[in-house]
Amino acid sequence: MYALFWLLLPVAAISGWIAATRHFKTLAENNQLSNAPRVDLSQKGLANLVDTQPDNAVDIVIDKLEVSPETVEVHLALGKLYRQSGEVNRAIRFHQNLIEKHALSHEQRESILFELGRDYVSAGLLDRAERIFKDLLTTDAFKISSSKALVDVYQQEKDWRAALEYAEMYQSLSGISQKTRIGQYCCEQAEKIAKEDADNISDVKTLLELALKKDKSCVRAYMLLGDLYFKQQAFDVALKHYVAAVDQDRNYLSVVLENVVCCFQQVPQKERRLTLLANRSERNLKPATENSLVQDEHLILAHNKTIKYIEQTLEKTPTLSLLSEYLQLSLDDLGAENKKYNTKIINALTQINRKNASYKCVSCGLGVHALHWQCPSCANWSTIKPL
Ligand SMILES: [Zn+2]
Repeated sequence: MYALFWLLLPVAAISGWIAATRHFKTLAENNQLSNAPRVDLSQKGLANLVDTQPDNAVDIVIDKLEVSPETVEVHLALGKLYRQSGEVNRAIRFHQNLIEKHALSHEQRESILFELGRDYVSAGLLDRAERIFKDLLTTDAFKISSSKALVDVYQQEKDWRAALEYAEMYQSLSGISQKTRIGQYCCEQAEKIAKEDADNISDVKTLLELALKKDKSCVRAYMLLGDLYFKQQAFDVALKHYVAAVDQDRNYLSVVLENVVCCFQQVPQKERRLTLLANRSERNLKPATENSLVQDEHLILAHNKTIKYIEQTLEKTPTLSLLSEYLQLSLDDLGAENKKYNTKIINALTQINRKNASYKCVSCGLGVHALHWQCPSCANWSTIKPL
């Protein structure tokens, strides 16, 4: 409580403390603070109060401070401090009492109601918070902040459809782009449907395509579409989506690499033939020998294409996991001695990767072993990247 009181001072300084202090002074001078025992609310009196009753100082000030249009800002600051210092139930009671005071204007009542909604979110009473923020959507002053608050409420409830709706509302009201989270909400919805009904491919596909329409840089949507086509054995389309994901962010190649390698090997015969024909002059092949070589060479070609693809990515965005995969895939190209040497490096890298986090949040620095699309620490979307 003592620490809480000192937190009060800078906030109050910004939000009307001066006006309120003047108000206390006048009240004190006129003896209008009638409740006994009398409290000295001058600067000296407050310092003395903190020294003598550190645990009760804030409560005493609140008790003695009348609620009026002049002091409501200070009350709001105090309520916020209760919530921020973890005293959520107290903040709720405080704001509930405050809102019943008659002297307040409509705007001041809305401010208190908004803070009460935030208290409910902190207390996990999301249905109550939802009702308050929906009511406040009809006001001019709290339309934007309530739509944003509703996004957070529905996100916590994992109601992705509603979160998407209010994220779009917040985006259009505020003009602040929400495309990253909107794309992620579409992906969350798609994954939920895929989990509940594995046969409902069309809805999943529609939602993932919607994710890309809303956010064309949504790596997750490209990856999930890649997985979807991969399962349907449409390897050429799957590969295109995996490559598009890596084009957006090269860090993610190690995540999709296993399927990418498989796709390179499974590219249809026709495409392999076309690739060989296209490379004819470069490879100095005669047309008569092409057909016989197609079958034998396609795996080598796929292997070389994969290696080249990884090398290009590794040059631009080196990661430990990708380096390890690269060395593993290159083993076949090496002589016995080098193979032995590279195997040792791969084993060492595997141990390092096992010990350390494989992914890190670029926003808060949290290290984790699995890929999360929303950071469990800072709650940002798309900030966790492979290392
Ligand atoms: Zn984070």
